[in-house]
Amino acid sequence: MGNGQAQARGTGDQESLFDEKALAAAATDPAARAEALRREIEHHTYCYYALDAPEISDAAFDSLMRELREIEAAHPELVDPSSPTQRVGGYVGEQFAPVRHARRMYSLDNAMDLGELDAWMDRIVEAYGSLPPLCCELKIDGSSIALSYDVASGGALVRAATRGDGTTGEDVTANMRTVKDVPLRLRACALKAVRGARGAQVGGNAARADAAGLAAAGTALAAPAAEPLELRGEVYMPKSSFDSLNAAAEASGRAPFANPRNAAAGSLRQKDPHVTASRDLSTFMYAIADEAALNLPGQWELLQWLREAGFHVNPDVARCTTREEVRAFCERAVERRDQLPYEIDGVVVKVNSFAQQEALGFTARAPRWAIAFKFPPEEKTTLLRDITVQVGRTGVLTPVAELEPVVVAGSTVARATLHNLDEVHRKDVRVGDTVIVRKAGDVIPEVLGPVASLRPDGAQAWEMPAACPSCSSPVIREEGEVAFRCISIDCPAQALERLLHWASRGALDIDGMGEEIVSRLVESGRVTDVADYYSLGEAELASLDMGRVNKDGEPIRLGHTVAAKLVSAIAASKARPFARVLFGIGMRHVGKTTAEALAAAFPSMDALAQATEEQLAEVEGIGPKIAHSVWVFLRTPDNAAVIERLRAAGVTMADEVMAPGEEVPQTLAGLTFVLTGSLAESGLTRDEAGARLKAMGAKVSGSVSKKTSFVVAGEAAGSKYDKAVALGVPVLTEAQLLAIYETGRAPEVE
Ligand code: AMP
Repeated sequence: MGNGQAQARGTGDQESLFDEKALAAAATDPAARAEALRREIEHHTYCYYALDAPEISDAAFDSLMRELREIEAAHPELVDPSSPTQRVGGYVGEQFAPVRHARRMYSLDNAMDLGELDAWMDRIVEAYGSLPPLCCELKIDGSSIALSYDVASGGALVRAATRGDGTTGEDVTANMRTVKDVPLRLRACALKAVRGARGAQVGGNAARADAAGLAAAGTALAAPAAEPLELRGEVYMPKSSFDSLNAAAEASGRAPFANPRNAAAGSLRQKDPHVTASRDLSTFMYAIADEAALNLPGQWELLQWLREAGFHVNPDVARCTTREEVRAFCERAVERRDQLPYEIDGVVVKVNSFAQQEALGFTARAPRWAIAFKFPPEEKTTLLRDITVQVGRTGVLTPVAELEPVVVAGSTVARATLHNLDEVHRKDVRVGDTVIVRKAGDVIPEVLGPVASLRPDGAQAWEMPAACPSCSSPVIREEGEVAFRCISIDCPAQALERLLHWASRGALDIDGMGEEIVSRLVESGRVTDVADYYSLGEAELASLDMGRVNKDGEPIRLGHTVAAKLVSAIAASKARPFARVLFGIGMRHVGKTTAEALAAAFPSMDALAQATEEQLAEVEGIGPKIAHSVWVFLRTPDNAAVIERLRAAGVTMADEVMAPGEEVPQTLAGLTFVLTGSLAESGLTRDEAGARLKAMGAKVSGSVSKKTSFVVAGEAAGSKYDKAVALGVPVLTEAQLLAIYETGRAPEVE
């Protein structure tokens, strides 16, 4: 399945980012609007940093942030310390040890065009009377990294940390050590410079302290000598490595990364450093946490020093003294962007002198002495070959632009959603047009509009078909709705989408149940709704006709190996948490977050089905529209029947909740577990699996020692497995882990 298709498919009925009505309502109430924006921003921050899977483009994210900032500027009473505007964007996960940065890792303010860049330079001129020397660098589109070197003991690399939320990052030392251009030791000449600077600093401090009449100044001020030297930069993945990584992912059926930046961030946050090592990451270093640690006048000189110290430093830098030079550097970067072997998303302009930087200082989130000039989103023209219609799982018909493939911002675009009929008319795009395609922040491609002068004669305005392209039932448009829908319950396209959604990763996660197999199951009439999955037998699956023939003209069948795997994946899906069932069942407007909120408030299907619309609407994050949709869904007899069959098959219909006062028996107290590898069979994340063990009284540790009671080894278990074997710690399979959950008892060991 290509990217475009996935995106078009996702546009139907997910929780919508731009819910027109909610936005319109909030527009008149700044407090509500600010709160809605904060929630949305927090969600996307999580997708971006924690999941490495952004749902919206950078440009869209920036514009949400910008709007929030504008509201807060106009209504200072609405500013809240927990607002995303008050911190550096980021996320600290739980997989890696937290690292508190000795000095904050800031974000950068953006200039979205040359006008805004000029406005920033105006402010600098205001402060200094004229433009001081500036240092222009490329803005590398990767992940921030801080590398610490122990100067006292010969300059060895002692720690690498991500930016995280700016204050606290994650310890990724083991992974960064695998990145080939990261020096594991500073070069001797560079080290000398640091020691020299430190000597001067301590001496200087002592002199200052003496002047202030302080006793014991030497001891009070000698501390810096022991501090590691922290250097900062960007870790990135070259475009060519990104392409081969994604090609390999697609070939093996894994989800591709959205862009090289996510690939870099994802590769850096691997539990197993061998994986990171295989990912071909590189760095460009450009900063130091504490400028005073080196006796250098400014940024330009720091870059020279970093080069001498052995770091990879980007060669495309310029020292500029006029606005024209700065603008020319930015324009040249825009032109050269495509030819560079790595992604850049702008230019960073910095006041060169460290003394001036210090005087200008920082705002809450960014330095005043630097600005990021962001590139305009990339646009290309291409031919609109056709407009097809995709039927979503709730019957919404979405027009999709079928494009002559074109490379935009680093990846090929062949399809793009046109959202709905109104949008097609508003943009006035017609089959045969040459259209302008944009990829803002390189996530979701968008058709901006036609090049009017290139329209072929006779091109007709596009209309929604009167009949569903999948089942030929009449298509309707409800009063006040933008969307056209096919409301036939027998529509195979809807069935296919619903079935695929149920089996997808965020839902019931039936490994291997992909589009080809599900299509064949639907076409053969074997599966029509999600409950049918649970009555599939191995022999029946093995004989499934795949609609192709081998070289002897015989039909190709699914076969026993795949069938057996599918049967156990289907069985494993029964144990997914209740929220996943609510998400997977495909109620309109119920995305993942909403499903989690519902499951938290009503932890069983019965409780949910008994709730009134008003009770549903009282749940945090659930408005009347969602409440109505859930209420209607659960009262529709066909849906209730499917739910009953799922229940009978043993699919989770309730989260285990304790009666008030009741406690989970602590049957695993005193035992320590270590989890390694991916728990593919149960579909639980390691955090989820660990949480269940902890709930039963166990300790869950990140490393294996003699004191470890059990190591649970999932798929592709790594060095922890080897260590367990070496230390004689019993190793459990995932099936044994599931048995522990069920019985509450750990296996006996001799
Ligand atoms: P943003 O994440 O959009 O706020 O942009 C700030 C980030 O840009 C910093 O945290 C760095 O990771 C990154 N960056 C990339 N190249 C540079 C550079 N040459 N100088 C400073 N920051 C850079």
